[in-house]
Amino acid sequence: MNLSALFNLTYGIYVISSKRGNKFNACIVNSVFQVTAENPTIAISVAKNNLTHEFITESKVFTISILKKDTPLPFIGKFGFKSGRNIDKFNDTKYDLGITGVPFLRENSITYIEAEVINSTDVGTHTIFIGKIIECENLCKNEPLTYSYYHKVKGGKSSKNAPTFAQQSAENIIIKEKKEDLKMKYVCDICGYVYDFNIGDDIHGIKSNTEFKDLPDDWKCPICGVGKKQFTKLNKIGG
Ligand code: FE
Repeated sequence: MNLSALFNLTYGIYVISSKRGNKFNACIVNSVFQVTAENPTIAISVAKNNLTHEFITESKVFTISILKKDTPLPFIGKFGFKSGRNIDKFNDTKYDLGITGVPFLRENSITYIEAEVINSTDVGTHTIFIGKIIECENLCKNEPLTYSYYHKVKGGKSSKNAPTFAQQSAENIIIKEKKEDLKMKYVCDICGYVYDFNIGDDIHGIKSNTEFKDLPDDWKCPICGVGKKQFTKLNKIGG
């Protein structure tokens, strides 16, 4: 069985939100699909260890925000690589509330869909929630961000909670890169972001040709927010 065959399946990048009482949380998923047109229903696959999974299981309601093509990586990182157990993801996020009181994004989102859970299937690490759509609206005209574009053009990585996650990051990067190039690269152990000496970090105003050791002590991964200690030099991993 050649599991790389599955890489040819297509996916999007979606923010799934839910609530517990008056608390909100959200996470990124890549697997959302419309199940029926008549009595419209939608299905999502959510990792069981996500806090959002607990919220959906309890409240039986969720929204899907479809991210636009040019959504900044740190915005995706906030929802995809940080846990609502540690931060309030809606604290600095523009949102509105749907009919059920679940938030949907008002920034970087082109469409939202609100649904009530009518069924769910336990698939081991994940649950597939099937929802009856009770509201949906387009928020702006833009193209949706596809999973392929996120990986190939934006250089984004998969969370370990993605249903499609396969061991990637450091090992795969090493195979693809020439060894001399690796000396200047450090990979984030959490999200797989690569700090490249030749590129720097635009988001934090770090110019190209800045060595990793010269980054400020309080520099953080632009995607997931961890500090320098959680980065590994690539040529060391390769041996
Ligand atoms: Fe990171």
